[in-house]
Amino acid sequence: MHKLSLPASLTRRDWGRAALTIALAPWSLSAQQALGAPEDAKQRVRWRNDPFALGVASGQPRADSVLLWTRLWVQEADAALNTQALAVQCEVFADEALRQRVGQWTVMTHAQRGMSVHVEAKGLQPARAYWYRFTCGSASSPVGRTRTTPAAQDKVAQLRMALASCQHFEQGHFTAHREIAQQDLDLVLFVGDYIYESSNPRYQLRAHQGGVPQTLDEYRARHAQYKGDADLRAAHAAHPWVMTWDDHEVVNDYANDRDPKLTDPQVFLRRRAAAYQAYFEHMPVRVGPDAANPANMRIHDRMAWGQLADIWTLDNRQYRSYHACPDPLKGGGRVVMGCNELADAQRSMLGIDQERWLTQGLNTSKAAWKVVAQGTQMSSTGLATPLGRSAFTDGWDGYPVARERFLQNIADAKLQDVLVLGGDVHMNVAAQLRVQPNDEKSPIVASELVTTSITSRGMGETLAAQIRSNNPDIAHLRPDERGFTWVQITPEGVQSAFKTTANPVQPGSAFGTQAQFAVQRGVAGVVKG
Ligand code: FE
Ligand code: CA
Repeated sequence: MHKLSLPASLTRRDWGRAALTIALAPWSLSAQQALGAPEDAKQRVRWRNDPFALGVASGQPRADSVLLWTRLWVQEADAALNTQALAVQCEVFADEALRQRVGQWTVMTHAQRGMSVHVEAKGLQPARAYWYRFTCGSASSPVGRTRTTPAAQDKVAQLRMALASCQHFEQGHFTAHREIAQQDLDLVLFVGDYIYESSNPRYQLRAHQGGVPQTLDEYRARHAQYKGDADLRAAHAAHPWVMTWDDHEVVNDYANDRDPKLTDPQVFLRRRAAAYQAYFEHMPVRVGPDAANPANMRIHDRMAWGQLADIWTLDNRQYRSYHACPDPLKGGGRVVMGCNELADAQRSMLGIDQERWLTQGLNTSKAAWKVVAQGTQMSSTGLATPLGRSAFTDGWDGYPVARERFLQNIADAKLQDVLVLGGDVHMNVAAQLRVQPNDEKSPIVASELVTTSITSRGMGETLAAQIRSNNPDIAHLRPDERGFTWVQITPEGVQSAFKTTANPVQPGSAFGTQAQFAVQRGVAGVVKG
């Protein structure tokens, strides 16, 4: 028996509660009050164009709930609807044929929240698939499929994920998402660069509409263009997504309240607020920007996959210390040598609060595997130079003391089976993580897999070869191909496969296996095969 969270016909009080199940932005309440009566929820809006053209999505699964998302896309012919609050129904079914409805929710949306819809579907059973769809007046959405996590005490046999990041719309087609949609997976783990704000005219298979976004409407338009891609919509409709962001969701190489142009922080924070708001409006995430301070939005999170795995998704951007030794005219990350600031123990990639939250969580976790998913590469990519070892200051090499704190804690607390997953660098990487990078005397304490980009171009082979030869901890590093990483976790170990195709990705591109890496339970470090 599935618990019916709300009856199909709602009393006035129930309806109010239903509307409150959306992740509330400050204006949602007033919209709901303006509407008042439950009959309005049954308004018969007649659409001329399909308002569900941006698709449906689910995310942040739990054992008894999942977040369901859509955004009404109001086109020219329906523009009059932009001034109204609209009621959207969401139904959840236990079967693909949509015969056994287990829950129905009605929520309100309107233009001030970008016509976005976030429904927390509660009262679900653990470890099973559900199907869902939205309706608004005369229009119905495509059907999405999602999945709840196993219950906390469940001894689970496996977790199968696609790890993905970096999908520059202009630099390739989202064919990898078509492939992800067809895979038998429990979830998609997306670790950042969902949109890109910028363009590189040299690598353009298709074009962004509009210029570099600055305002809420411009970020909304950019997200909507990405969601206009059928392959991306298919991957969202097929699996729940667990997400964090990196920099390009706002602007390249931003750090906390500082953008690479060293804009006045008050001005940049308004842009960050617009970017975070648009991100929330387009993603299956539960929490949006802080009502009191809309430039802040909590994205970091922890979820459990029964007793098999705890998964942390970290925020590497919002709370980080500024880049060390920046170019005073350019800001942002760069390659430095002999930068003493790197040794400053006060500097943090995650911010002190998130660092503490992560450490505490890791040290008390009872899960077999501790999976730390975050935006970028943790293993070092520095090169020996006459001026000392080089460091790229935007990645973990730019926060070496914070990295050491994270890895030293794993050693001190004797944590086993820590797997770090990342993206951002547009190359597949498998690496050993030692407290002291590349120091054979320093023990391997964790294993790292970094996924290549869905589309974004990677670095050249000359630099890649230098990185490989300067960093013995790196077991595999290839920037030439695009794709995603298949990861399967069982009580005995981790199996992974870099699923790739040639750059740039074309609509018909076929995916093969570039390399496979495993991690054995109880033995830190990646092993080929
Ligand atoms: Fe990227
Ligand atoms: Ca990035």
